[in-house]
Amino acid sequence: MSKNKPKVSVIGAGLAGCEAAYQLAERGIAVSLYEMKPEKFSPAHKLNGFCELVCSNSLRSDRLQNGAGLLKEEMRRLGSIVMQCAEESRVPAGGALAVDRDIFSELVTKRLSEHENITIEHGEVTSIPDAPAIVATGPLTDGAMLEAIEAFFGEGLHFYDAVAPVISAESLDMSKIFEGSRYERGNDYLNCPMDEEEYFTFINNIITAETAPLHEFETPRVFEGCMPVEVMAKRGPMTLAYGPLKPVGIVDPRTGKRPYAVVQLRKENNEATLYNIVGFQTNLKFGEQKRVFGMIPGLENAEFVRYGVMHRNTFINSPGKLTPWFECIAKPGLYFAGQMTGVEGYIESAASGMLAGIDLALKLNGEQSVDFGSKTAIGALGRYVSCYNGSDFQPMNISFGIIEGLSNAPRNKQERYTLIAERSLGIIDSIAERTGLNGAKTATECE
Ligand SMILES: Cc1cc2nc3c(=O)[nH]c(=O)nc-3n(C[C@H](O)[C@H](O)[C@H](O)COP(=O)(O)OP(=O)(O)OC[C@H]3O[C@@H](n4cnc5c(N)ncnc54)[C@H](O)[C@@H]3O)c2cc1C
Repeated sequence: MSKNKPKVSVIGAGLAGCEAAYQLAERGIAVSLYEMKPEKFSPAHKLNGFCELVCSNSLRSDRLQNGAGLLKEEMRRLGSIVMQCAEESRVPAGGALAVDRDIFSELVTKRLSEHENITIEHGEVTSIPDAPAIVATGPLTDGAMLEAIEAFFGEGLHFYDAVAPVISAESLDMSKIFEGSRYERGNDYLNCPMDEEEYFTFINNIITAETAPLHEFETPRVFEGCMPVEVMAKRGPMTLAYGPLKPVGIVDPRTGKRPYAVVQLRKENNEATLYNIVGFQTNLKFGEQKRVFGMIPGLENAEFVRYGVMHRNTFINSPGKLTPWFECIAKPGLYFAGQMTGVEGYIESAASGMLAGIDLALKLNGEQSVDFGSKTAIGALGRYVSCYNGSDFQPMNISFGIIEGLSNAPRNKQERYTLIAERSLGIIDSIAERTGLNGAKTATECE
């Protein structure tokens, strides 16, 4: 570690902050990683450790023909600590990468705490630090830090998200539930089949169930990917049957038939003692969750270990304010990373921390930024956040929709995505091999 390079402050040891701190430290930069837990917790955080997955334990698909799968593979090849610890804490989840959240958090905390270039500082940070710094305080950023960021950007920054309940395995009625993943890709999910009558009774109850009041703000704006299940149900009687309850690729072994609708339960831990209800993020009152979700076959006596809740989500209107490497255009050396920049999701948050950490390390080491371009998932994410040119910037999950397409692309989607993934991984490999991420080419701005 060089003595004359400035120490970097990374604020927030979540998905983005941990990845950023690790990328800096691995490149010889001294880091002070600030985390307010365990002295102060957001309403969603419960664990003392770093990198807490506050809702689902899934980092989504592991297939290269899926945007999240491709992004994860790129991050693996670029030496992501989040990916390394996720692999080590993996629990079975069909084609997805799901983790035991306690083990995952313990692994990341240990690796960062023991890193020779990282100093852990406990306590809430109440202002934006001097550069060089990365602010990654997450979508629940609150209090003085929220005020400081709003003042810095000159605007208010918030909307709403919802999380799904978790239930105990021993409380399930397994005589009504069967195991199996969609399209017979393993046996990792529990499936609660509904016939037509059960489905419509459920719909009629969910659309009239009582929701919890939201104390803050006006009518909430909700991110489409985290739409509460009751809001989805109100869009039309078949919305859930074509959405989270779709029975496609699922056959009930007891009847040999596809059910009318299926509620899936996903393992929360390796021991399979806890399950979350897939796609059931909700703002229903707790009593109503017990009553209405108890109408799902097999969940009549379900014990709710954690009820679903709705929460605030803070994000910067980043286009034009941040570079594709998440550096603040108005204040070089100051970076923002994670969900608060307008990426959406655990893995996307970690990826933004990775880009910010790598870029800041390169600059402090006197090297040029690496341009990951718009043909890689990680580069496309950075470009979405910095270069989106529509009128209503909203947080974005990674998808093939934001990665540059192919000329002469095959019509078949799977073939097309396979080719795009191969192209992307070729670029990532050549950047990593050619330079070890040290001085690839001059960074380009939004085109
Ligand atoms: C309730 C909820 C449920 C979500 N569910 C999912 C999901 O199921 N799947 C998914 O992919 N994404 C989900 N997300 C979205 C997003 O992926 C996660 O919020 C993700 O953890 C964001 O990573 P981050 O690093 O930006 O923030 P976080 O992981 O929240 O990390 C921020 C860290 O900063 C610390 N901190 C905050 N303020 C300060 C301060 N002033 N000083 C010092 N430390 C501070 C916090 O304690 C925390 O450890 C959810 C978000 C929320 C809020």
